[in-house]
Amino acid sequence: MAKRIPTRLYLSEDEIPRNWYNLRADMKDKPDPILHPGTLQPATAADLEAVFCKESVKQELDETTRLIPIPEGLREFYQAYRPAPLIRAYFLEKALGTPAEIYYKHEGTNTSGSHKLNSAAAQTYYAKEEGLTSLTTETGAGQWGSAMAMACAYYDIKLTVYMVKVSSEQKPYRKALIETYGAELIPSPSNTTEAGRGILARNPNTGGSLGCAISEAVETAIKTDKCRYVLGSVMNHVLLHQSIIGQEAKAALDKYGIKPDIIIGCAGGGSNLGGLIAPFMADKINGKSDTRFIAVEPASCPSFTRGRYAYDFGDTAKTTPLLRMCTLGNGFIPSSNHAGGLRYHGMNPILSKLYQDGYLEARSQVQTDVFDAAVQFAKIEGILPAPESSHAIKAAIDEALECKRTGEKKVILFGLTGTGYFDMTAYMSYNAKTMTDSIPTDEDLAKGFASLPDIPQNK
Ligand SMILES: *Cc1c(COP(=O)(O)O)cnc(C)c1O
Repeated sequence: MAKRIPTRLYLSEDEIPRNWYNLRADMKDKPDPILHPGTLQPATAADLEAVFCKESVKQELDETTRLIPIPEGLREFYQAYRPAPLIRAYFLEKALGTPAEIYYKHEGTNTSGSHKLNSAAAQTYYAKEEGLTSLTTETGAGQWGSAMAMACAYYDIKLTVYMVKVSSEQKPYRKALIETYGAELIPSPSNTTEAGRGILARNPNTGGSLGCAISEAVETAIKTDKCRYVLGSVMNHVLLHQSIIGQEAKAALDKYGIKPDIIIGCAGGGSNLGGLIAPFMADKINGKSDTRFIAVEPASCPSFTRGRYAYDFGDTAKTTPLLRMCTLGNGFIPSSNHAGGLRYHGMNPILSKLYQDGYLEARSQVQTDVFDAAVQFAKIEGILPAPESSHAIKAAIDEALECKRTGEKKVILFGLTGTGYFDMTAYMSYNAKTMTDSIPTDEDLAKGFASLPDIPQNK
């Protein structure tokens, strides 16, 4: 007899995965290699180790090892906040009157507030093992900086966070959280780096940008002894660490014999979506399932749905290695009225390839629709979602309503990547009905595409 499915599908601490799942091992066509921006040859480990930790580089380049062990000293940290809850959205199903079953994996229960802690902890653990004494990074909205500050406090590593200046002013509580955990927070651009001084000389009143903060963090890492730079999304090793999300979700669903028909995730740089779908996508590639996978992105920064599949830089200063990905061009700047997060110009190479090959669908949503869904979800399920996560909620509700129309009893799984506690300014603008939408025009997009590197690979 089938077991009654509880509202919370618990796993025990002992069931936290012991390996990460490297999806590339199952892909018949692999993503294109990372290129050195100078030589345009595939980047070597030595090239990347000047900037990143050794183990991150090894994982970044590994296309064949399916299971990569999670070290015991890291599993200990994961036990402080994992397994993350998998929740059956009984209340939402009832409110929608849908025959569909809806489940969500809630990654917002740790203090930093999002899934980003999964990779922050891993990268900090490896830095410690390598004998590094400090790390640098950048943060825009602040979730990644908060996650890194928590991880560095635990592993006793010095951390410098370059936070985009306007964000550090608009989000004082994020700044305070990062500093409470002991990290040094520098509003960017700053006079602590050549990159920062150059930008300030040209434009003293600038509010900064993610691209500029990346340049400052990388420069400091390269110039400091026993210091490296860490990144919270987009790169393949970050997706690898996030595969803990999908594996826990699959283990909990397997206990009740539940097989998702549709899996939905929001997509900024792609790390939570890639991690959530990893083990399920392997089944699809190997012909064992027919699950649909849907990426949801903001209409104001539509890397999948309106981007190009091309080699591009990760930063606006054009200093990083080149990744082949779905991109709007490193020079693309989303409209300043966009409050919903997910504002990165590019998308992880694995997901970009899966999209290109037809394994992954994508859609975009305007932010007023996203916040309608967020508030509906908060009222019905009780959890205040991050604006980013609410893109996935919107699509899950739409799919459930489609099931209501057709009478199909599909199983829908989505990623609830974080809490909205630090996003109250965005909720305030929604409540005050001053929130507006912006969809880039074809001319806006053309400007972004003009920033793509002019190299033979992009012809
Ligand atoms: C950073 C972030 C995202 C987007 O990042 P991905 O790398 O695309 O997962 C989504 N949700 C929350 C809460 C975040 O903090």
